[in-house]
Amino acid sequence: MFDYLIVGAGFAGSVLAERLASKAGKKVLIIDQRNHIGGNAYDYYNKDGILVHKYGPHIFHTNSKDVFEYLSQFTPWRQYEHKVLASVDGQLVPIPINLNTINQMYGLNLSSDQVEDFFASRAEKVSRVVTSEDVVVSKVGRELYEKFFKGYTRKQWDLDPSELDASVTARVPTRTNKDDRYFTDTYQAMPLYGYTKMFEKMLSHPNIKIMLNTDYKEIVDSIPHKFMIYTGPVDAYFNYCYGKLPYRSLEFKFETVEAEKYQQTGTVNYPNEHPYTRITDFKYLTGQKHPKTTIVYEYPKAEGDPYYPVPRPENAEIYKKYQQLTAAMTNTYFVGRLATYKYYNMDQVVAQSLTLFKKLMQRQPETHVNGQKVTTSKLQQS
Ligand code: FAD
Ligand code: UDP
Repeated sequence: MFDYLIVGAGFAGSVLAERLASKAGKKVLIIDQRNHIGGNAYDYYNKDGILVHKYGPHIFHTNSKDVFEYLSQFTPWRQYEHKVLASVDGQLVPIPINLNTINQMYGLNLSSDQVEDFFASRAEKVSRVVTSEDVVVSKVGRELYEKFFKGYTRKQWDLDPSELDASVTARVPTRTNKDDRYFTDTYQAMPLYGYTKMFEKMLSHPNIKIMLNTDYKEIVDSIPHKFMIYTGPVDAYFNYCYGKLPYRSLEFKFETVEAEKYQQTGTVNYPNEHPYTRITDFKYLTGQKHPKTTIVYEYPKAEGDPYYPVPRPENAEIYKKYQQLTAAMTNTYFVGRLATYKYYNMDQVVAQSLTLFKKLMQRQPETHVNGQKVTTSKLQQS
């Protein structure tokens, strides 16, 4: 009898499997329908010997000391600060939009104070910032919105920014300084040997059994377990009883090139040209030494593996109904980007999973470690 059946071996499932096994002595079966662990963060060496991310570029960044220290138990790190250029008006300029972006685009030599005035003079008055269009036009005005955000967003989501929650484009801030890093988090680093190696270490506890290539529905009735943790799409779990929740998908096109580097930065965004949104050159991310490199193009699409929840009011309404069903369940828990329909980064999923672990321990305070009965208060000290 397993204590927990965990569906999905991505960040959400793997963090919980690791905590439940190593800190609470629980017996865990973690299963995934794919042929590998790691979920969307899975990486592998391709036939050219280059470490690539199968489901698109994954750059780790967090402000949470707890999350960073937690993951540091399973991997050493390589410091990496991601930089992105956007192809706009025939030039490659830094995104997030910052002082350098404006000076380069318009042939100016503004200071930080002056660029603040530049933005203010173009910004549109928006009484309440609600949509992804509002966020940008209220900060930098319509021209820059159209050059950097409108086309990219329509490609990525097949929706106009005015149809998406503010939180989507708010992920990409505007700066008046020259900081051209994509993220400003305190911790920015990549797992030194890759994500998959980190997941292998997380799941290498004797209490954890892994089953791949298996949809949980095939085994859920035949493998006895006390609790289930589900990290797949929430609408699928309930057989779409309230209708399908939209998830956006991507097609990835990989290409290996005969050069150490393909482009000037880790990622180049193409807001206005091409059917793809961006090209990423993996060797910037991984720091691998190799005479060749592999790049990936991202082509957005509606069908395919669910990658992105689509943050907009009508979808939040549908999710709310599913959430009511999840809340009413006593022995099944829902966690992660797909199961809680949240546009979460990896660190947010880790934090959400660590929080669920704490809750589970409060609900089931009595547990066994190495055959000995212990209480939650003792576990928290360890
Ligand atoms: P997942 O990784 O999706 O894991 C869920 C698992 O459940 C999957 O492996 C799936 O196969 C399995 N599953 C589903 N249904 C079933 C079933 N019926 N039976 C068995 N198994 C099932 N985050 C960052 O922090 N930085 C980045 O740079 C970044 N880049 C990204 C780029 C792209 C293109 C995408 C799509 C996401 C990116 N993310 C990034 C987000 C990151 O991928 C997620 O936050 C994280 O992987 C979510 O983990 P999870 O465990 O919730 O879900
Ligand atoms: N975005 C944009 N232009 C850009 C970069 C981002 O319009 O050059 C918008 C777009 O809607 C995108 C969102 O901001 O989906 C979030 O961007 P992010 O780079 O965080 O996307 P992710 O890495 O999650 O795909």
